[in-house]
Amino acid sequence: MTWMPTEEPRCEGAKERAIELIVEGRAVELAGMPVRRVLPTRARRMVGPFVFLDHMGPVEFPAGHGLDVAPHPHIGLSTVTYLFEGEIFHRDSLGTALPIRPGAVNWMTAGRGIVHSERTPPELRAAPHALNGIQLWVALPEADEAMEPSFVHHPASDFPPVSLGGAELRVLAGEAYGVTSPVAVRSPMFYVDAILAPGGHLPMPDDYEERAVYVASGEIACGEGRFGVGTMLVFARGEHAAITSERGARVMLLGGAPLGPRHITWNFVSSQKETIERAVRDWREDRFPRVPGDELERVPMP
Ligand code: MN
Repeated sequence: MTWMPTEEPRCEGAKERAIELIVEGRAVELAGMPVRRVLPTRARRMVGPFVFLDHMGPVEFPAGHGLDVAPHPHIGLSTVTYLFEGEIFHRDSLGTALPIRPGAVNWMTAGRGIVHSERTPPELRAAPHALNGIQLWVALPEADEAMEPSFVHHPASDFPPVSLGGAELRVLAGEAYGVTSPVAVRSPMFYVDAILAPGGHLPMPDDYEERAVYVASGEIACGEGRFGVGTMLVFARGEHAAITSERGARVMLLGGAPLGPRHITWNFVSSQKETIERAVRDWREDRFPRVPGDELERVPMP
């Protein structure tokens, strides 16, 4: 398999007052595939309810290869998978089995517990293929942490683009720029896919306490700084912030109201340490439900 970053991360120039923190995604492996892990990072655990951001790819798989994340559990969060390119087949312990395709939003709420697998479909493996996308974890409010698990699929047609200042926006979750996403959420937040044309300009939503932008491709400028793929800018509270792009870029905007601190151990998120300890024991002792159609493998607790 070839790791093919289209551009190298780049940060230069003076620090803009609106920028509180610059995060460079670090390279980690996910089931043998290189990914950029952007959240959590030592300097910043959460942005609004978002506790985790992985940028998977862009990667080119040779024929015969693909992503194989075997069944593994989650609690206390929702995972949100959004692809730019490629396809992942999702199965979970509720019996959900469907392909995740570019532009669709797939929102899996673990609540008290769910198990899922994420694999390249067999028909895609026959030939070389690409994968590029973002997986987020959204923490649940304390009152909802033990809710019933669920899986919600929204096709790309649920997110018609809106134009603003040379940017094409899709509001994937929450509310921003006067648009409300059809995806049901449990706390105030926004998650927006924005494609900036060359010369494009985009103000960040001002009405949320915590806000960040992640550069998925191309390059953006904020004040005097220029930031490339793999970089997340976290904005200061109450400061007006805007980004521009000379050559064009694709960015994800995210943030919302803070939920309070969360413990994260492996795939488990909770406001209570004891809840995580119980989930660790339950997975070790095989007390989570099985994934129909994917019963043979499981990811062991590291
Ligand atoms: Mn997972």
